[in-house]
Amino acid sequence: MDLVLNAADYYFFTPYIYPASWPEDNIFRQTISLLIVTNLGAYILYFFFATLSYYFVYDHALMKHPQFLKNQVYREIIFTVQSLPWISIPTVSLFLLELRGYSKLYDDVGEFPSGWFRLIVSVLSFLFFTDMLIYWIHRGLHHRLVYKRIHKPHHLWKIPTPFASHAFHPVDGFLQSLPYHIYPFIFPLHKVVYLSLYILVNIWTISIHDGDFRVPQILRPFINGSAHHTDHHMFFDYNYGQYFTLWDRIGGSFKNPSSFEGKGPLSYVKKMTEEKHNQHAENGCKKEKLFSGDFTKTE
Ligand SMILES: [Zn+2]
Ligand SMILES: [Zn+2]
Repeated sequence: MDLVLNAADYYFFTPYIYPASWPEDNIFRQTISLLIVTNLGAYILYFFFATLSYYFVYDHALMKHPQFLKNQVYREIIFTVQSLPWISIPTVSLFLLELRGYSKLYDDVGEFPSGWFRLIVSVLSFLFFTDMLIYWIHRGLHHRLVYKRIHKPHHLWKIPTPFASHAFHPVDGFLQSLPYHIYPFIFPLHKVVYLSLYILVNIWTISIHDGDFRVPQILRPFINGSAHHTDHHMFFDYNYGQYFTLWDRIGGSFKNPSSFEGKGPLSYVKKMTEEKHNQHAENGCKKEKLFSGDFTKTE
């Protein structure tokens, strides 16, 4: 986060906002700046990528599904906009610790090839670590003692759109993002890699809500995609995972997505529309036949 804050200080806060007497490493100044940067960053990431996904990836036919709520997109957005500032408060306290040197983030790649090897290993371990923790945290959030109060709002959307991706109760949103934030306090991680992964996981979160149920055949056994996560929204007790199906398989909660079996929400909408068309056609046909007088003949 210091990379972002340094840039914000250099181009914006120091020349235009704060008095020259306020040093850049003052903890109050850092807290205020981090709150601004984190909220702004979260809104930009959410609106930019969710909007792109909504217009270019999301299949709008899903909105005809009977479980799609009235004004759902608007409600998903409002819910997110209200939640993000609350989520940013505990998040900023972790960023502050990171900024003041308590994390294991580093900025020198080191020598080739060992430095680069370490970098690649850290990306893989970051994905493994966060996927595992999110699985168990998410599963814990489905416990009846906390579900109603904390996690239910995210399950309000049975047929989610990309805008539901960040529509969480603040406690839920923070808990599920916690693994990303604690990783660099436990393991060494390059600062640029951390920032890139942070952006990527936000995009991934949007992508598992984008209603594009396709996964390349070869990756189907391993990747937890939109088909899996939409089934999680619809059937609750399955596919808690984030990127991979690994922990759902270990934890016994894996379910082959209904979309892969031709029983998903899109197939449902398709069938529904076809039936409607057929009914229309039948009614039209009957009327025509009545008018032309040959109804009884064909009957
Ligand atoms: Zn859930
Ligand atoms: Zn979701």
